[in-house]
Amino acid sequence: MAAGFLVMLYEYCPPFYISIVSLCFIITVAMVLGWFGFDVPIILRSSDDADSVANIPEKRMVQVTNPFALELGSAPSSVTGGVVLRPRCLEECTLSCYWGCGIQGLQAALHAHRCGPPISTPQRFQEALHFQYQHVQTFHIETEDPGERLTQMPASLGISHFGVLPRACYPLVVLLTLAEPDTRDIYNIVASVTVVHVPDEKYQLSERILFQYLLTVQGNMYELKPLFMSTGDGSQAESTDPAPDTEQERPNEAGGPQTGTTQEDEDEDEGAAPGAGRDCVVCQNAPVNRVLLPCRHTCLCDGCVSRVQHCPMCRAFVLEAFALCRRPLEDEQEGHHRGE
Ligand SMILES: [Zn+2]
Ligand SMILES: [Zn+2]
Repeated sequence: MAAGFLVMLYEYCPPFYISIVSLCFIITVAMVLGWFGFDVPIILRSSDDADSVANIPEKRMVQVTNPFALELGSAPSSVTGGVVLRPRCLEECTLSCYWGCGIQGLQAALHAHRCGPPISTPQRFQEALHFQYQHVQTFHIETEDPGERLTQMPASLGISHFGVLPRACYPLVVLLTLAEPDTRDIYNIVASVTVVHVPDEKYQLSERILFQYLLTVQGNMYELKPLFMSTGDGSQAESTDPAPDTEQERPNEAGGPQTGTTQEDEDEDEGAAPGAGRDCVVCQNAPVNRVLLPCRHTCLCDGCVSRVQHCPMCRAFVLEAFALCRRPLEDEQEGHHRGE
C-alpha cells in the first residue's frame, strides 16, 4: 500500500516525491549512525537521551567575609513610632540611620562610591548624599552585640509621612560601617547600605527591607538577594538574613563593565550546613546544596543538579548553579590556601 502511494505521488509531483524519499533516507542514515555511537544532532535523539546530557554551568563564586548583617526587629514600625533594627557585626561598627533619604541622593552616593574613594565612613556617605535626608541618627555597635536599636525621627520635625507615590525619598536608609580604621584593611567589604520601607499614613505597606547593598574597598557594589530554600513540608521558606559568611560572584577584575547588582548571596549561618535538615526535592536522599539561577531556588543536592534543565520548584529554565558549601575536603584545602 505504501509502495502504491509512492508511485501515485511520483506520478503527481516528482520533486515532492524525491524530497520525501531523501528525508526518509537521511533519517535512516542518522539512526544507523546513532546506533553505532556516532554523534548525531540532538533533534534526532529521544528526549531521555537529551536529558542525560544536560549540563548546567557552574557559576564561579568567591568566598568573602561580610562583617555586617542587619535585620528588622520584631516590633511594629512606623514613621512616627520609629523602627527597631537588629545589627549583627563581627567588628565594632557605626550604624547610621538616614530618615527621608532622597532617592537621587542615594543613587549619587552609590555612583560616587564606584567612581571616587570608597564609602567607608558615615561622613563620606553624607557628603556623597549631598546631605539629602531629613534626619540622621547614629549608634555605636559593639562586636557581636545582640541588642536592638530603636531609631526614630524627633517629633519636633513634625514629619508623619513621606508623601504620596511616586516618592522622591526612601523612608529609611541604614548604613553600617566599620568603626575602627584598622579593621577596614581586614575586610574586603567596607560598608553595607540597607533601604527600608517604613509604613506611614500615606502608604501603609508593612515594613520591609527593599534593597541591601555591600560596598567593597575596590569600589564595587553588590546587591544581597534572598535564596529560596525548600523546606521539609514542601512549602518554601525565604531566608533574607545576610549572615557574616557570604559567597559572591567574582568581581569583574579585567576592567570590564561592573556587574554590580548581579551578586548572589549565601545567607546561611556559617558552620551549620546550609542544607541540613532539608532533603533534595528530587531524590529525597541527600542534603540540599545547590542554588539554581536565575530563580534562586535552593532545592537540589549535588547529584541531582545535573539531571534537570528546569527548576523543580518553578519550572524556570536553569542557566547556572552554584554550591552553598563545597565538599569538606575541598573546603579544608582551600582553607589552608587562604590561611597562608
Ligand atoms: Zn537529589
Ligand atoms: Zn525555581
